[in-house]
Order: sequence, then structure tokens, then C-alpha cells
Amino acid sequence: MFEVKNIEDTNLAENPVVAQMSKYNHEQLLFCNDNDTGLKAIIAVHNTTLGPALGGTRMWKYNNELEALNDVLRLSRGMTYKNSISGLNLGGGKAVIIGDSRTMKSEALFRRFGKFVNSLAGKYITAEDVGINPLDMTYVGMETEHVVGLPGKSGDPSPVTAYGTYVGMKACAKEQFGSDSLTDKVVAVQGVGHVGEYLVKSLTEEGAKVYISDIHEPSLKRVSEKYGATVVGLDEIYDLDMDIYAPCALGATVNDSTLSRLKCSIIAGAANNQLKQEDVHGIAVMEQGMIYAPDFTLNAGGVINCYSEVKGLSSEWAMNKAEEIYTTIQNIVKRSKDENVPTYQIANKMAEERISAIGKVKLPL
Ligand code: NAD
Repeated sequence: MFEVKNIEDTNLAENPVVAQMSKYNHEQLLFCNDNDTGLKAIIAVHNTTLGPALGGTRMWKYNNELEALNDVLRLSRGMTYKNSISGLNLGGGKAVIIGDSRTMKSEALFRRFGKFVNSLAGKYITAEDVGINPLDMTYVGMETEHVVGLPGKSGDPSPVTAYGTYVGMKACAKEQFGSDSLTDKVVAVQGVGHVGEYLVKSLTEEGAKVYISDIHEPSLKRVSEKYGATVVGLDEIYDLDMDIYAPCALGATVNDSTLSRLKCSIIAGAANNQLKQEDVHGIAVMEQGMIYAPDFTLNAGGVINCYSEVKGLSSEWAMNKAEEIYTTIQNIVKRSKDENVPTYQIANKMAEERISAIGKVKLPL
């Protein structure tokens, strides 16, 4: 897959790995292989200007290695932006383990992976992501201290993520409706898993009228009974007469087919990559007069929680830091209006500006 030709005819532009690294200026890639355990992994360190690169490890049955490479490059860059805009002293990184999480896991495989993480000497700090559970991370943690989110440490990040999402949603409401009160506002929460349920709790406690959808019937039943939320169909959610659409399940739900149906004023949820195509749907959302709260800003509570563990800070600190998402979203929305540029672009700019400014601070005197 990553064939390197004779050194004479190796052209950077033709080399899929180096060309892709240089496209978004990734610092380092570590390819990990171990025949004994079957481990095949890639660790990507995108940018460490602000601090060590932190981002989870994902285990996924990629169709081929190039797909895994693209994913780890994209996700690690996303972590740089998320960590930067959240005001954390962390860079961006991510790891992917190529394989079926249902059949290929073993203690040895995760400990071997931990060895690779350790070989980066703290430049990359790992955590749980899709396909990985706390036990897997416990094994990783036997071989490296550069891991967060282990059982008994900072704990489930979902309440912090939900809180950040909630306050960010209120900041959007302040801009759209003149008040950040969500009382009597109609909010549709798509997905009532870990984050969605905490969000529904906050919303119903404030007196919002909440609609929920989920593919998992028991979650729907529990959340609707507990908080008095109204259940709607998986597709019906897009047609609701609502003030706020809160995607908390899947990515790419803001797309060509849903945008013409969404009648909300605000899109603010915890799901990653909500805009199917940023440069198309991020602009379309603005043209329709909606405020889109950039997902990586809104759902940063999870990484804030990880950071509290790295720095030995309290859970109160994490909640207070997540509360700052209110002001960050306000600033993004204000700049978006002043500059007439979509919110996702402003969020990216703000993340880049902080990296650039702090990069200069770090230069020798
Ligand atoms: P989760 O798996 O606990 O919950 C997701 C829920 O969405 C599940 O209940 C699932 O049944 C439901 N769902 C799946 N497909 C659906 C569909 N088509 N329609 C409606 N519901 C559907 O995940 P989570 O931890 O609550 O995270 C939710 C989202 O927030 C994810 O996109 C995740 O990447 C993102 N996120 C989570 C955190 C965190 O701290 N947990 C942090 C940052 C981002």
C-alpha cells in the first residue's frame, strides 16, 4: 500500500504518505506493527505547539490502510483545532488500530500498542474512542503513563460534554432570541445516549419542550419517562416545528436532503462532523439565517475532562472550563456576523490564531 519506489524516482508529490502529511502540516506519524499480536496501528501527531498531542485511539475495521491513514490524519488535525479553541495547553493527535474490535482484541495487543504510545515519550497522550473500552485502556496503561480516562480517574466525560453543549446552545439562543433562556423553547435531541440524556435532563429542568429520537427503543423509553420528553420518529425529527436542532448521535445529518426540511433557528449538538460538507452546508446554514454552533467547540467538554486528568485538576474545574464554551460561542457568532463568514470558518480561524500567537510566545527570548 505505502509503496516507496526507487529512491531516484521518489517524488514527494506522488508519495501518498508524505504528501498527505504535508497537506495539513502533520508533525509525525508512527506506523506500528507487531506480528505476534496482530497489532497494526497508526499514531498521528498533528501539532504540538500548544502542548502534548491528545486524542483518542479508535479501533476500526478499515477496508484498507489508506482509509485508516486518511482517518487518522483527519481526526488528529481535528483534535488540534478542538484543543486550541478550548483554551487547553494541548496539541492534536489521534491513533487508529486497524482491525475488528469484536474479534481481534487481546491483552497483549493493547499492551504492545501501549509500548508504541510510550515510545513517543509523552508527545502523544491517548484515550478511549470508538471501538475501545475501559478494559482495553487499562491494558494500554500497563505499558505507558501517557493515557487518560482510565477507570477510577476522571470518569465518564459525557456530563461535561453535555454541559458544554447546553451552555453553548444558550449562547446561540441569546443571539437568536435576545435571551439565553430555553424555557418554552422547542428542542429536538437526536440520540439520547450518554451525552443526549444529560442534555435532555438540563433542557427539561429549564422548561424546554424536548423531542427525542433514537434507534435504541429502551433508551427512548427511559429518557421519555424520566424527563417527559416526547418521542418522534427517526426521520420525522427533521420536519419538526422546532427552535433548536441538537444532533447528538451521528455526523453528517446537516446535508442536502435535511437542510430544506430543517425549520429551526439554531443547530447545536454534541455529535462530531455535523455538516456533511463544511464548505457547502456551513454556508447554506448561514444563508438560511440559522446559527450553527461549530461542533468541535460545543462538544469540547470531553477533552476538557481529559485535560483535567492530565493536569490533576478537579471535576469542578472541568465544569467551569466547559462553561467558558458559552463565551467562546458568543465570540464566534459575533465574528461570524461582523465578517459575514460562516461560524465553522470563524472557529477554525480562532483555533489557528491561538496556535500562531502561542507559538510565538514560546520562541526563545
Ligand atoms: P452514545 O453512543 O452513548 O449515544 C449515541 C446515541 O445515538 C445512541 O443512543 C444511539 O442509539 C443513537 N443513535 C444512533 N443512530 C441514530 C439515529 N440514526 N438516529 C437517532 N439516534 C441514533 O454516544 P455519546 O457518547 O452520547 O456521543 C454522542 C455524540 O457526541 C457522538 O457523535 C460522539 O462522537 C459525540 N461526542 C461525545 C463525547 C462524549 O463525551 N461522550 C465527546 C465529544 C463528542
